Amino acid sequence: MTIRLKTESDIKTLREGGERHAEILGLLAAMVEPGISTLTLEEEALRLIREKGDKPAHLGYTPRGADRPFPAALCISINDEIVHGIPNEVPKVLNQGDIVSIDLSLIHKGLITDSAITVGVGAIDDESRELLNVTKRALEAGIAAAKPGNHIGDIGAAITSKVKESPFSLAKDLVGHGVGFAIHEDPYVPNMGNKGQGEKLVPGMVIAIEPMLNVGKGDIKLDRDGYTIRTKDGSRSAHFEHTVAITEEGPLVLTLGK
Ligand code: MG
Repeated sequence: MTIRLKTESDIKTLREGGERHAEILGLLAAMVEPGISTLTLEEEALRLIREKGDKPAHLGYTPRGADRPFPAALCISINDEIVHGIPNEVPKVLNQGDIVSIDLSLIHKGLITDSAITVGVGAIDDESRELLNVTKRALEAGIAAAKPGNHIGDIGAAITSKVKESPFSLAKDLVGHGVGFAIHEDPYVPNMGNKGQGEKLVPGMVIAIEPMLNVGKGDIKLDRDGYTIRTKDGSRSAHFEHTVAITEEGPLVLTLGK
């Protein structure tokens, strides 16, 4: 395991990219409405990313275990799709009542931030709204635990305890990760954990924290496209993610708007 710490100057650049990142996700979220295609969101994302000289990190990236590069800038995952849905190969039209996760990795001045949101398409049912709320609160709890002196396991423990107060389940086998110089760096940041276990958090670490919650069970399955991960039981799933720097003062969320 090699954890590559970031300097104050790196973190400043990541924060600058993170502000733009939040802006782009906000603009895309505002476009979500019944009848819009995932391809339209993908094309608008590329335009917004390139407009300010930044680059999409997912496009052309081949993660470990995959047999081909990811073909898009965004991962768009609808309803029972948890993560890594492909928006442009077989574009899908969003329907009233769907929930849709938009996950973006942005390269700004050579450094990478990672963030995801889940939004409702028009009016959504109470259960879906609660799923989004609990997932957001689980992310906030994980972020609050990301302070120097704590361990990676404290983040997962905080996320798990929030989820346990709800009827929902954490998606199994999917984890957060170090980020900044590459899309996926050490350490892994599991959403399930025990206090005091795993690497110690020290200033300069930059990690993506990303709880994924399913309405039903936590089991997952991979689609034939080799990327899209779904809930095994077909229930809905939500995903919220921020890139967070560990600083002397505590967690600094890099992918927040101004
Ligand atoms: Mg991530």
